[in-house]
Amino acid sequence: MKIHHLLENNSVANTFISELRSAEIQKDRMRFRKNIERIGEILGYELSKKLNYTAKEIKTPLGEISQQLPTDKLVICSILRAGLPLHNGLLNYFDKAENSFISAYRHHLNETEFEIKVEYVASPTLDEKTLILADPMLATGRSFVNVLHALKKLGTPEKIHIVAVIGSTEGIKFIEEEFPENTHLWIATIDEKLNDKGYIVPGLGDAGDKIFGTR
Ligand code: URA
Repeated sequence: MKIHHLLENNSVANTFISELRSAEIQKDRMRFRKNIERIGEILGYELSKKLNYTAKEIKTPLGEISQQLPTDKLVICSILRAGLPLHNGLLNYFDKAENSFISAYRHHLNETEFEIKVEYVASPTLDEKTLILADPMLATGRSFVNVLHALKKLGTPEKIHIVAVIGSTEGIKFIEEEFPENTHLWIATIDEKLNDKGYIVPGLGDAGDKIFGTR
C-alpha cells in the first residue's frame, strides 16, 4: 500500500486539522463539518494526480486545444455516518462520480471490546471502477476492512484509494495487511496511539458526534 501523508508538508491543511482537533473550536459543528469537507477536497485533489488521463479535444470560443482529462470510472463510497462530509468534499471535485454508502458501527461486547457490524449497503457495481473509500477516522482499521469484505459481492475494483483525516499507526498497519497491494491511502495526519476504547489519541474525539451531535 502506498501511503500519502498530507501533513508531512506544511500547508493550509494544518489550520483545518488544528481546528478539527481543538476541543473549543470543534464545538462549532458547522465549522467542523466544513473542515472535514475541505480536507476531502484537498485529498481528492491530491489523489487525482494518480488517476488515468487521456487527451481530449476541447473547442473554446476562439479555437481548439488538446487537454488531458481523467478517464477513471470513479465510485465514492462513504462509511456512514461520519463519512458524509468527507464524501461531500470528494464529490465537489469528482462531480461525475457514482456514489455508494455503507453503514459500519461498533457493537460493544463490554467496556473495551467491540465488533464492527456492517448492515446497510447501497452501491453501484464495482467491476472495472476506481473505488474511493472514505471515513474520517482510521482507528483500528477494522471498519475499512469489514467494508472491503462487504463490497466484494459488488465486483472487484481496478484500484482502491482510501481517504481518511486522522489515522493511528496500528490501524494503518492493519489495513496494509488486508487491502490489495496497489491500494493508495490518502491521510491528512497520523497519531501514535489508540486508547483502551479504540479511540485515536490525541485524535479529535468521536467524529460522528462532532458532525451530527450525540446519538
Ligand atoms: N472513531 C472516531 O470517531 N474517533 C476515533 O478516535 C476513533 C474512531
